[in-house]
Amino acid sequence: MKNHDCIFCKIINKEIPSKVIFENEYLLVIEDISPKAPVHYLVMPKKHIINLMHIEESDSQIMWELLREVKKLSQDLDDPKAFNLISNNGEGAGQSVNHFHFHFLAGKNLYGGDFKL
Ligand code: 5GP
Ligand code: ZN
Repeated sequence: MKNHDCIFCKIINKEIPSKVIFENEYLLVIEDISPKAPVHYLVMPKKHIINLMHIEESDSQIMWELLREVKKLSQDLDDPKAFNLISNNGEGAGQSVNHFHFHFLAGKNLYGGDFKL
């Protein structure tokens, strides 16, 4: 279930401190240590899943719990209720921690520069 070399597994196991926003049996939400927006949470499963390339059908409950939590987090936002949900999958796409997580970002228009999806 956990990977001893994984920084997020260590955070989940409280071996490394973090600012916890929410926690239940399936998932943990923490503040990103290097926020890129006024609200920048990391929403991660407690199960060590490397990224979406490693997700399996048996993880469907976990994925639903993550999305339900994202919805809950969005309901707690100040107006305007708007957010970006980003997941980097693979080193070539910018993934630096090999434990699946969503970046939940709010309070800033990420598309202020040239880049727009
Ligand atoms: P990735 O680059 O894998 O998509 O995202 C990893 C994120 O984890 C980065 O935004 C980085 O700031 C954050 N991060 C890395 N180490 C820690 C840590 O020890 N604590 C917290 N709260 N966030 C971390
Ligand atoms: Zn892990």
